[in-house]
Amino acid sequence: MTDCLFCKIVAGEVPAEIVRESERAVAFRDINPQAPTHVLVVPRAHHPNAAALAAADPASLAEVVAEAHQVAVGDGVADGGYRIVFNTGREAGQTVFHVHAHVLGGRGLNWPPG
Ligand code: 5GP
Ligand code: ZN
Repeated sequence: MTDCLFCKIVAGEVPAEIVRESERAVAFRDINPQAPTHVLVVPRAHHPNAAALAAADPASLAEVVAEAHQVAVGDGVADGGYRIVFNTGREAGQTVFHVHAHVLGGRGLNWPPG
């Protein structure tokens, strides 16, 4: 997708602090972090949301989740606990329509979320 911010980050056309890269996924720090660890994990291929990715390429969705865990391990938050969030749709707060897992950790996380 030519006009997608996260496609541009994957392509290196928009700078980001890359944390991990795998065959099918890229992890980079959120520009407006909501926790000490706030990393976005995206598939390299453009899919608008998690359900679309699950339908089109379930192995890629699994890789996004596995990479999210490795991000948590790398940031030292895996043992204490972390949250993986896929905002899906505008009313849920999705603003970038290239599927991304938010990996949040390093502070107490309220439940239920706001
Ligand atoms: P959403 O609201 O769609 O679930 O999440 C989009 C996330 O992308 C937000 O947390 C926002 O801070 C982050 N974001 C928006 N623009 C950029 C950018 O240019 N670079 C990075 N690294 N993150 C961004
Ligand atoms: Zn995209």
